Order: sequence, then C-alpha cells, then structure tokens
Amino acid sequence: MAMRKDARPPFAGLNGRSPEELFAGLPTPCYILDEAALRRNGEILAGVSRRTGCRILLAQKAFSNYNLYPVLAPWLAGTEASGLYEARLGAEEMPGKEVHVFCGAYREEEFEELLRYAGHIVFNSPRQLEKFGPAAKQAGKSVGIRINPEHSTQSGHGIYDPCAPGSRLGVTRVQWERTMTPELISLLDGLHFHTLCEQDADALESTLHAVELKFGDVLPRMKWLNFGGGHHITRPGYEVDRLERCIRKAQETWGVTVYLEPGEACALNAGYLACRVLDVLQNGEFRLAILDTSAACHMPDVLEMPYRPPLYGAGNPGEKKRTFRLGGPTCLAGDVIGDYSFDGSLREGELLLFGDMAIYTTCKNNTFNGMPLPGIFVLQEGGKLKCLRKFGYTDFKSRLGGLSGLEG
Ligand SMILES: *Cc1c(COP(=O)(O)O)cnc(C)c1O
Repeated sequence: MAMRKDARPPFAGLNGRSPEELFAGLPTPCYILDEAALRRNGEILAGVSRRTGCRILLAQKAFSNYNLYPVLAPWLAGTEASGLYEARLGAEEMPGKEVHVFCGAYREEEFEELLRYAGHIVFNSPRQLEKFGPAAKQAGKSVGIRINPEHSTQSGHGIYDPCAPGSRLGVTRVQWERTMTPELISLLDGLHFHTLCEQDADALESTLHAVELKFGDVLPRMKWLNFGGGHHITRPGYEVDRLERCIRKAQETWGVTVYLEPGEACALNAGYLACRVLDVLQNGEFRLAILDTSAACHMPDVLEMPYRPPLYGAGNPGEKKRTFRLGGPTCLAGDVIGDYSFDGSLREGELLLFGDMAIYTTCKNNTFNGMPLPGIFVLQEGGKLKCLRKFGYTDFKSRLGGLSGLEG
C-alpha cells in the first residue's frame, strides 16, 4: 500500500533536530504537544468533510488538552463527550460548535445540566431512551440510540470490541425487536455505532454492511448516522478514498447526515513524552534501564492495549548494537515500556523521546506509587516551547483527601 504523503510520521515535528537540541532544557518527564502536527491532522480531516459533506467531531476522551482546541476547531464540526464533564469542556472550550454526548448510562441528577451543553444526546439502551428521551426532545435536542451491529472486526484487542458476545454497549437487533416500541422509535433522530479501534476503512466497510443488514429498514427515517471513532484516518497508509465511499453510500442509501467522531486520528503523532534514564542495570542476558517515566502511570495504554510506542533513534530489539528493556521506577514488575535497541549503551541522565504521546496520555495518566505527573508543554508552530502546566506534590495529595482531616 502506498504511504500517504500528507500524513506525518511520529517525529516529523522535530524538523531534523535532535531531542537534545530541542528539549534538553525541559524538566522530565514531560509531554510536549506538537501544534503543527495537530493542525495537519485537522487539515486531513477537514478534507474528508469538504469532499463528502460529513461532519467530524473530536472525541475528547482521547485528547482533551483544551488549550489546543483552537488549533483543531477550524477543521471540525465540534466535540464528542463521554459524559457530563467532557460535554461541559467541549461547550466551554470549542464554543459555537456542536457537542455530542454518548454515555453508557446517564444519571438523573446530571441530566438537566447535560442538556445545557449537548445538542446531540445518544442513549445506550431503550430504557435510557424511555427515561430521558422525552426531556431531551422537549429541550430541543437531537436524540439517538447506539446500535450494536454484532460485527467484530478486531482480533487481539478484546477489551476494545463492543461487538463481543455479552457486550453492554449498544442495542442488538434482537433487543430492538423486544423493546423498541413505535413511541420510542418516534423519539429518534439518529443512530450511532462505535465498533472500531485503530482500524482502516475496510473494517468500516464491512461494519457498514452489517449495519445495513441489521438496521437498514429503520435508517431511512433517521436524520443522521454516527460512525463513531476508531478510524485511523491520519495514519500513513489509511485508505481515505474507501472511507469517503462509505460515507457517500450511507448518505445516498438512507439520506442521513454522517458523523465521524475520531479521537486518535485528531491527535495521532502529535505529541512526545520526554524522559531521562535514571539507572542502567543488567540481569543475566537482559540489559535494563529505569526511566523517570512509567508505562503504568504516564502511558497506560502501553500496558492496556498493549502496544510499543515509537522511540526516537531506537530500533527493534536486536536491530542495533545494544538492546535494552525500558521500564519505569514504580513497584509494578510489569511496568515495562518495551525492548529497544540503540547504537551504543544508554547513559544515566540521557534524554529519551517517545512519540505519538498526545493521545490517551495526558487525559488518562495517574499518580500510582506517588509518581509525579509529567508537565505539559506545547511546541508551537514557530518552534517556540510553551509550558501549559506543571504538577507537584499537591496535585497528588489533593485527590486523596481533604486538608481538614476528619474533623469539621
Ligand atoms: C472511544 C470512542 C471514540 C473515539 O475512539 P478513537 O479510537 O480514539 O478514535 C468515539 N466514540 C465513542 C463512542 C467512543 O467510545
């Protein structure tokens, strides 16, 4: 498959300079968000919208560094939220744009506030639609329900497959037949599915076929169909043409407005995690290095997915002269980022730079073991570095209790 020429590899933002040249002055560990890469992703997504008429939303659960929303906003129709807080963040920080929300189940005490922020509300079950749908319609909202086309397209990432047997996400056609009364159906403006994860357009194409088989009869009365996220649109090699054919087919067959809500694709390869080597050791044949960053705390998807993040200047195990297993300073034996090879030995204090660190990191990290949270910096388009946020002991402590103890 031909490489996309307009998609950026993980370290393109360095413009040929070394991490040491660019980032030596930064306190490690720290995330560095790459403004130019975000804009480039935005431009690619905007191209899809322009050519097809579909509307694209930022799924904030993957990337919610709102200081950079102004970089993405010109290219997007709005934001997608997983619940009340993200909906509020989208409304506040991408003002004037659409806010869509999907949540596995809404709470009664939050729903009224949610109506202030979201224009599109997607329910996960017929019961939730029955409970909250009338109030949403009354408030003038566009209402949808999540469907489960029962078409698994991923192998190996079981926890990311909402089509697996016993899934709680989305209504199957059998559940629909049993529970969707004409009254409930009349509340609906749209359908939503989200079944992909880091996938190409062929998986979307076969999913859309399953959607047609299962729900093709109800779609003509809908105003919109949301294809969810998991489309790796900005990755080199992604088949944009095939995506656009899928969008056009849905538009033409059912007369719906198509929404996409990618998270990863908005901020793919648009950030780095800079860290330093704290210690170098050897156990039998294994060369090991302990870094001042942790997979478990600062890049949790490395363990959860799992995946091996790109590392500047390093090769696959055995590819270069010396292979090291890189791990964090925590007590977790499995806090291992991966095996990487280098031209020479690693040195204490050496700066290392992981790539593709804007997504599912700053919004998902934690302070397990009392690990400090990495600061957040921005590499601006002109090449200047700007600090967005630093964290300290208080950020760790404040989440664990009140300052006044049990008294008062
Ligand atoms: C996770 C999620 C997304 C975004 O997924 P990416 O893999 O980051 O593109 C979009 N919509 C819903 C409902 C999701 O749960």
